[in-house]
Amino acid sequence: MSTPTLAELTARVIRHRDERDWGQFHTPKELAISLAVESAELLALMQWKTGDQLARQVADKRPELTDELADVLHSVLLLAADLRIDLGDALEQKLVKDALKYPVEKARGRNVKYTDL
Ligand SMILES: [Mg+2]
Repeated sequence: MSTPTLAELTARVIRHRDERDWGQFHTPKELAISLAVESAELLALMQWKTGDQLARQVADKRPELTDELADVLHSVLLLAADLRIDLGDALEQKLVKDALKYPVEKARGRNVKYTDL
């Protein structure tokens, strides 16, 4: 089986929603909240861990991390679909903007915000 495209994944999550008649609850605000909640669930799996402990946690909790990352993507796909945002185009355009903010010659190997480059 080949890797599904964004369009195929979007159709899949919309079908999942429609089968359950959950679209009535999915305002952009509620989907953005879901996105933040699922991101927080991902963070919670790594909270308070550093160094070797974090590396071990990431290895031990891989199934849970995978689930939460999938939940984040699920929310992103629904929100983008409802707002009619093409995620492929959006990412391409954002990468262009970010490349201007973070020129390779200034940003390479540095972990500072663009305002401090
Ligand atoms: Mg979750």
